[in-house]
Amino acid sequence: MATEEVLREALEQERKARLDAEKRLEETIAERTRELSRTATRLSNLISNMQEGVLVEDENRFIVFVNEQFCSMFSIPAGPEILTGTDCSGSAEQSKHLFTDPEGFVGGINTLLANRQKVTSEILKLQDGRSFSRDYVPIIIEGKYSGHFWKYADITSRIRYEDALIRSEEKYRLLIENMNLGLLEVDLNGKIIYANQSFCEMSGFPREEIYGKVAEELFTTTENRSVVLEKNESRKKGISDAYELEITNRQGLKKWWLISGAPLFNNEGVQIGSTGIHLDITLQKQLEFTLREAKQMAEDTAKAKEVFLANMSHEIRTPMNAILGLGKQLLKSQLTTHQRSFLESINTAADNLLVVINDILDFSKIESGKLDLESMVFSLPNLLTQISNMLTLKAQEKGLTFNLQVDEAIAPALIGDPYRINQVLLNLLSNSIKFTEQGSISLICRVEENFEDQQAIELIVADTGIGIDKKYLNKIFQKFSQESINVARKYGGTGLGMAITKQLVDLMDGKINIESRKNQGTKTTISFSLPVGLQQEKHEKPQDLIRQEKLKGKKILLVEDNKLNRLVATTILSHFGILVTEAVNGEIAVEILRKEHFDIVLMDMQMPVMDGISATVMIRKEISTTIPIIALTAHALKSERSRCLEAGMNDFISKPFEEDKLLRTILHYLP
Ligand code: ADP
Repeated sequence: MATEEVLREALEQERKARLDAEKRLEETIAERTRELSRTATRLSNLISNMQEGVLVEDENRFIVFVNEQFCSMFSIPAGPEILTGTDCSGSAEQSKHLFTDPEGFVGGINTLLANRQKVTSEILKLQDGRSFSRDYVPIIIEGKYSGHFWKYADITSRIRYEDALIRSEEKYRLLIENMNLGLLEVDLNGKIIYANQSFCEMSGFPREEIYGKVAEELFTTTENRSVVLEKNESRKKGISDAYELEITNRQGLKKWWLISGAPLFNNEGVQIGSTGIHLDITLQKQLEFTLREAKQMAEDTAKAKEVFLANMSHEIRTPMNAILGLGKQLLKSQLTTHQRSFLESINTAADNLLVVINDILDFSKIESGKLDLESMVFSLPNLLTQISNMLTLKAQEKGLTFNLQVDEAIAPALIGDPYRINQVLLNLLSNSIKFTEQGSISLICRVEENFEDQQAIELIVADTGIGIDKKYLNKIFQKFSQESINVARKYGGTGLGMAITKQLVDLMDGKINIESRKNQGTKTTISFSLPVGLQQEKHEKPQDLIRQEKLKGKKILLVEDNKLNRLVATTILSHFGILVTEAVNGEIAVEILRKEHFDIVLMDMQMPVMDGISATVMIRKEISTTIPIIALTAHALKSERSRCLEAGMNDFISKPFEEDKLLRTILHYLP
């Protein structure tokens, strides 16, 4: 019994253990099945929600799985639930109308199915403009073909973008190929890696001949090679710029290129060389050279004219200085009535000659823009009185009356150029006296308008003379013009006076207007504005007396090679008690100055042995930096003045000089 019971109990335990094991197995299987089902659901959800259309077929082409996206991409009205389990073998035929190449679409599917090889990213074009990318993957389970997986992605926008990119690249490629600009790309060693058609035409080299060659060795000469090498170096530092380069093309012709260069990078942003756009500017360069030559020639001509003018001025003014100076000094001496009358005629003729010379020189100066106006405080009423004093006598000699009317409102001090106003009025009044046989000459000065710090002034010169023909009035300001041969023959003149007058009035920013009637008279009105200045102090003593006191006993070294001019200056200066020592050239002057002290040096510019400039430089360097040196020059040019001042001179008097101007200048520089 005991044995039997034991056996039964053992069997019972074994049964229970077996039942437990079975239960646990069942639970495990149930758990695994739930997990599998969860995974399958997750997977199918994932595929269902993919952006791409997915279709899975079994080995007999029955649909195992299809997603919504697939149905919608192929415009299939039924949904995935209905399609799953259906036969798919005719579907290619049904959908082929969607594609631009329907037969190609069907044929492609058949080939893939026959080959059973994985193919990805095949591009299909659709009739409606869309583009699909297709992947085909055969499903092999345990070495056995069990169906296949299709994936279709709508890549329309990507394809459109790529197409646009290709078109744009093509556009620029064509542009670069066909533009008149040569494009050249070189590597970091300067070797040519690309040249467009235009560059080949510009350089004369076909592509195959230049690829791989070093650009600067092909085109540049040894002189300008360094320019290109320098540019290559700056490209390596990332610098872009443009420069002009003279090159020699294949035919050996010299050409000029304008090159705009920049560093060249690869897709990874690494610099691989440089790129340059080339424009042939040979024609423009030639034009530039021609223009530069023409400009140089014009400058040379102007310079030659200026030098000629300076020389002519010197040649004429030097003897004029002697004639006028000595003539005036001679008048101060004892003369018979006869001699005095001859001398006065000589002096008048010399004065007239000087007017003509000054007119011509002035005109050349104005024309070459070398005449600048002074800007100084002066008294217009005084100036007009002086002019009137000077011309009343001349008018009376012809039996004419001379009237001067000056507006009391004229400011006592104005700022302007009294010399040029004087010149303008003398021109007009001399004409009036010249062209009037009877009646009167009037000089009227009016304030047209008063502004805060300037006055608008009107100067009128009127006569009762022969008048000017209306037709000629339009031409009166042309140089060398005169109304008629008869007038010219009868009255003389150069026809320059009115032209200069107009130019001077223009320089003063003024206006000139002439009204005239034949045989009735002429009225010329000049209007301009001048700033009002501060009134200068008046000297109580007469000028001459002050001068006598200040000048007496002063020592002046007169350096002048022209004997007559020395005589003129010495006569004037001695009259005021000045002690004059003469030197005939710069070298002698320097020697004298080494030994003796002087108050002032009057220095001629052009002299043999040593000229005024060299002598001044030497005096300033070796003898004295302070002794006043005043240049006496017959040159009419303003540039001469700066030459004098640069050499170390203190001032400048042009010949023929007026006694007054000479004395005033000396007085100014006396210690
Ligand atoms: P010039 O007096 O030396 O001939 P201008 O240039 O001063 O040269 O004058 C040009 C011409 O204008 C004179 O020749 C003359 O015919 C005419 N003209 C100028 N001023 C007068 C005037 N006040 N009366 C008549 N004619 C004048």
